[in-house]
Amino acid sequence: MAQKKAQERIAILGDIHANLEAFQAVLAAAKERGVTQYVCIGDLVGYNANPKECLDMLRALKPIGVVMGNHDEYVGANHDLSGFNPVAQLAVKWTRERLSMDDRKWLTSLPYQKEIFRFGTGMPPFCIVHGTLDNPGMWGYIFTRLNAMASMEYQGNDNLCFCGHTHVPMYFIKDDLDTKAFYFPFEKPLKLEMNQKYLFNVGSVGQPRDGDPRAAFTIYIPDDETVELIRVPYDIKKTQEKIVAAGLPPRLADRLAEGR
Ligand code: ZN
Repeated sequence: MAQKKAQERIAILGDIHANLEAFQAVLAAAKERGVTQYVCIGDLVGYNANPKECLDMLRALKPIGVVMGNHDEYVGANHDLSGFNPVAQLAVKWTRERLSMDDRKWLTSLPYQKEIFRFGTGMPPFCIVHGTLDNPGMWGYIFTRLNAMASMEYQGNDNLCFCGHTHVPMYFIKDDLDTKAFYFPFEKPLKLEMNQKYLFNVGSVGQPRDGDPRAAFTIYIPDDETVELIRVPYDIKKTQEKIVAAGLPPRLADRLAEGR
């Protein structure tokens, strides 16, 4: 008797930023929703107080795709930090001291972008990138439809791309006529149409900036062709206390409660 294959459910996690409590809450929510695979669109480290724990937790999930974020690059490599604002600079230096050389090497070994194949679905691969597909190593932001249009030019045959970097969950749809920007509907799966191209910003696990302090992640179900944004409350106070205790800038603790 043929056994029914379990439905693949892919959690897309982005901008975890060393926030262990948010990451744990997101993983519990993903498990509850029957997630089978994990993908990470970068910025595992930076800002919050548990870089090593978050790195190990992500790797233990055996994700099917991970790309590098700007913080991963700056923490992993020995780049000069003059391009960063002072708060980010301090956080990067602090983080470097908490990771082993192997951890840092692993971060810099990550690709800027990656195509993930959906074997057996007849679907083209989908792609992941931290910032933008047009020049991913420049770390540009996608806030507007013009930014999205420039990136989507490089999507090729992939009808679907997931990104992060702005920490603001939203999505863009491109058809023959136009590219439009949307905010996610609340806790309602979006059905993808075959004749359109999509670019999703999956929101931030560890430092949301859309005014909603809850952790954000996205679940993609290839069989159904749906994408859903999930928000998860977590112990913000505990994360804030760790930031302060670590001597990281207090502003990094304050902003978590504001979701800014
Ligand atoms: Zn980030």
